[in-house]
Amino acid sequence: MRNFVFIAPPAAGKGTQSKFLVEKYGYSHISTGDLLREEVAKNSDLGIQINEIISSGKLVDDNIVLTLLKNKLTSVLEENKAFIIDGFPRTPNQAEMLTKCFNDLNVDNYQVIYMNLDYEEAKKRVLGRLICPNCGKSFNDLVESLMPKVSGICDSCSSNLEKRSDDTEETFKDRFDTYINNVEPILNYYNDLNKLINVDASKNAEDIFKNIETYVTGVK
Ligand code: AMP
Repeated sequence: MRNFVFIAPPAAGKGTQSKFLVEKYGYSHISTGDLLREEVAKNSDLGIQINEIISSGKLVDDNIVLTLLKNKLTSVLEENKAFIIDGFPRTPNQAEMLTKCFNDLNVDNYQVIYMNLDYEEAKKRVLGRLICPNCGKSFNDLVESLMPKVSGICDSCSSNLEKRSDDTEETFKDRFDTYINNVEPILNYYNDLNKLINVDASKNAEDIFKNIETYVTGVK
C-alpha cells in the first residue's frame, strides 16, 4: 500500500480521512498535533513549553516535532504498516526535513495529498469542530453534513463531545495565516518531485474518501 502525507488547512478533514484509511485499510495514522498533545499530557518541562506554543496558534520548533515524528515513524515501519502523516510538513524547511527523514528510513512509496479548502469554510470547520474524547470521531455544529444526530453527543459511542482548546477565533486566524504563508512553496516542492495529488476538501467526507481511496494501491 502507498503511504500518504496530508497537507491541508486546519480542520479540512485530514483526521476524518485518516480515520477512514485506518479502519478500511489498516493504515497507521501519525498526527504531529497528536504527538505534541501526548507530550503536553505528560506535563514535563518540554510539555509545558509546547502547550504555550500550541495555545498561541504558533508553530512548535521544527527539531522537536521532527524528533517525535521520526521516532513514531520508525516504530510504524518496524510493524510493516503503511502510514499517513498528518500535520507535517507545515513549512518548506519541514518538507526538506521530511525528505531527508524518508531517505534515512528508506521510504520512497508515498504521495502527498493536498486537501484544498478556502478561509471561510476552514473557519466554520474549526469554530464548529467537536471531537469525541472516547472514539476520536469528529463532528461539527456549524456544518450541516457533519452535525451529530443529537447535539453534543457522539453518534458512534454516545460520549459527550468536546471542543479543542485551540479551536478559537483568535488562534484560527494565526493558524490559517501560517498555513497560507507556507503552503504554496510546499506544494511547488512536491509538484516538482511529482508526488502531489489535489483533492477538493469542500465536498462531503464520503466523496473525498472515494477519491483518496483510488490512490491507496496506486491504481491511478
Ligand atoms: P494540529 O492538531 O495538526 O492542528 O496541530 C495543533 C498544533 O500543534 C499546531 O497549531 C501547532 O502549534 C502544533 N504543530 C502540529 N504539527 C506541527 C508541525 N509540523 N510543526 C510545528 N508545529 C506543529
